[in-house]
Amino acid sequence: LRVLAKLVKRDAHKMKAFVRFCEQDAVPASARRQFTAWFEPDHFIVEATAPFFARRFGDMDWHIATPNGCATCVGGTLDFAPGVAKPAALADPTEELWRTYYTNIFNPARLKVKAMQAEMPKKYWKNLPEAVLIPALVASAEERVIAMREQAASQPVPRSLRMVPYQRVLPESITAPDRAALNQQISTCTRCALHCTATQAVLGEGPDRAAIMVVGEQPGDQEDLAGRAFIGPAGRELDAAFDRSGLARSGVYLTNAVKHFKHQMRGKRRLHQRPARTEIELCRWWLKQEVALVAPRLVIALGTTAGLALTGNGAAITARQGQTEASLFGPPVLITGHPAAILRAPDPARAEVLRGELTAALVTARLQT
Ligand code: URA
Repeated sequence: LRVLAKLVKRDAHKMKAFVRFCEQDAVPASARRQFTAWFEPDHFIVEATAPFFARRFGDMDWHIATPNGCATCVGGTLDFAPGVAKPAALADPTEELWRTYYTNIFNPARLKVKAMQAEMPKKYWKNLPEAVLIPALVASAEERVIAMREQAASQPVPRSLRMVPYQRVLPESITAPDRAALNQQISTCTRCALHCTATQAVLGEGPDRAAIMVVGEQPGDQEDLAGRAFIGPAGRELDAAFDRSGLARSGVYLTNAVKHFKHQMRGKRRLHQRPARTEIELCRWWLKQEVALVAPRLVIALGTTAGLALTGNGAAITARQGQTEASLFGPPVLITGHPAAILRAPDPARAEVLRGELTAALVTARLQT
């Protein structure tokens, strides 16, 4: 009995895996799609297995015919009838699509013929549309694996590049009369492709008018999710520098050169990617308007990206650290390192030097304004 129970269970499992529905012309009065399938089980399992299909395909009406009984599900109600002889072949226009899909998901490098035969015994093949492909796929597997090995690994196109066709550049003439209007425009910005992959645009924060504006690079992972600038690890370094300098974060206007988070997926992790020059230049449009509205007397650029956005000079920070440079469109720009550089410092001594430089820049700004 135990052996029989096992065989019946296996048969039911195979039915769940190998029933292939064919779409039928819908009954005119019904809004639901209609499907039919033919299956040949070894045991009388249709009634026991039908509820699985009713749950799994709750949005369609279907009929499964077998020699050992038939099941019909219309509007979620199951009905059973005695078995029937095999009907004439069912025509299904999507079968070709299914075969194309199967060919594409077949991975020759993972082929294990014995396991495949055990999982998909030949007796089921006659009712599986993909079965006709199997012999050729198996026969060509070894050759394909050799070809795959010989081919250099291909690199996926970065998501930001795939998104480029979606970018829409707004006319340069749009200007915002106030912060609320500006923020509204930034929030719906599609000037570059980064809006496609970021959660949201991260807006500047701080008083409407501030003597000092601090500009970072772009929101990080946490900022992107929370919608607030400098609240992640780099933000904590920046906060500590504010504390040491005697300058209050709440008194300055804090923003980023690029408003959307640029990243690359590595598994489930979103790894920061430096914005490209074009992205920085497209986003400069917003920075320019922020400077015009907030009217700071001094702008602090944190790192190369902010330096490039504000001055047009993308040279490394090391040689420029602590210098005041002319802005492309506003008040002088005090250049200093990005707080994230402290986190990436190769040793604690270097981290201390970078902390000192950041603090010194904030102190200079406090004393000058
Ligand atoms: N780094 C930035 O430049 N800006 C942020 O908002 C967070 C991290």
